Amino acid sequence: MRRIAAACLAISSLMLTAMTALPAYADSTNVQIVSATAQNTTTIYRLYNPASGEHLYTRDTNEFSVLTHRGWYDEGTAWVSPSWSQTPVYRLYNRFSGEHHYTTDEHEVRVLTSRHHWVKEGIAWYSSPNKEVPVYRQYNPGIRIGQHHYTTNANEYKINNARNGWRGEGEAWYAIAAGKPKAHPYVALRAKLRITEDYRSGFNHGVKNREHQKYIMLHDTEVNASAKSILNSWQSAGAFVAAHFIVEKDGSILQVLPLDAIAHHAGFGNTGHNALYGVTDESRDDRRGTVPIGSWARDYGMNSYSIGIEMVHVSGRGGYPAAQLEAVDNLIAYIDAYYAFESRIIDHKAWRSGNSDTSAEFAGYLANYQKYRKHQPH
Ligand SMILES: [Zn+2]
Repeated sequence: MRRIAAACLAISSLMLTAMTALPAYADSTNVQIVSATAQNTTTIYRLYNPASGEHLYTRDTNEFSVLTHRGWYDEGTAWVSPSWSQTPVYRLYNRFSGEHHYTTDEHEVRVLTSRHHWVKEGIAWYSSPNKEVPVYRQYNPGIRIGQHHYTTNANEYKINNARNGWRGEGEAWYAIAAGKPKAHPYVALRAKLRITEDYRSGFNHGVKNREHQKYIMLHDTEVNASAKSILNSWQSAGAFVAAHFIVEKDGSILQVLPLDAIAHHAGFGNTGHNALYGVTDESRDDRRGTVPIGSWARDYGMNSYSIGIEMVHVSGRGGYPAAQLEAVDNLIAYIDAYYAFESRIIDHKAWRSGNSDTSAEFAGYLANYQKYRKHQPH
């Protein structure tokens, strides 16, 4: 009793199960003082794969740790299950689509594993016989992966069912306690930005999802004006050319397009640069308003694989204020977290020789961004 008082172990099962590797559990001399409730619960973790759109639910902390290091987002705890009951929830895996499925229905397990490429992965967790907290299941036939979603949050269930083709399927099984969701890491990083959205559809030239993201391209606006008036000038020029972001000297940011849209910020690159930069597929780009500028610069793939950031700056007329550079630092950190990998940072003149941006005054910062992802090395 000298190590951990019994009263301490009687605290909520949620807290105890969060401390997954509590050494006292492995020590047989302490077994008697562990309360039945504390000993018999299992925390189920929820992960999200931004590449495929799939949610994964697991009690395996090792699987959780491996996946979060492979780009899956930690979405917190999904719910708390009993460690055992007479109602197991089975986990199935589809070898064709890579998707997981969970069910208490043994008939469904038999039907799925007899065809449709499904294999049984065993018991995922157990349903609570006391039915403290329902786990809701919903279904979306319109998407390829992640067709089923599970949550203890009645509000999330309701909101999802009201949009994008989701249908409620009711209570799938029961938990002892509800989950504690955690926001994706990029949400907090975006909240740090002084950002305003002004999305204009004319600048959107196609879909640029995560698998096609490779570069962050830095530009100078070559005009000293507010982000809003620069955006308006792009619009009045025909609304074809724009970057995703404009960063002002005071560090405020105007976002013109969502990250998953193709913007015409890079224009034509030197002939051969599509292959050099690995951006050969231009087919998702509608190419509206594009006019080839000569046989020396024919390649147009960069837009389909990049995010464009414009800094308000004119070459040869002063430096980049710290507030502006810090805003670019934070913006890059947000973009990296959004995709869960680091895109290669280049400037416009790397893509097309003869461009003025970025300026000579930026050269040291560019090298730092490429090495440290910040304008200075710390
Ligand atoms: Zn540029």
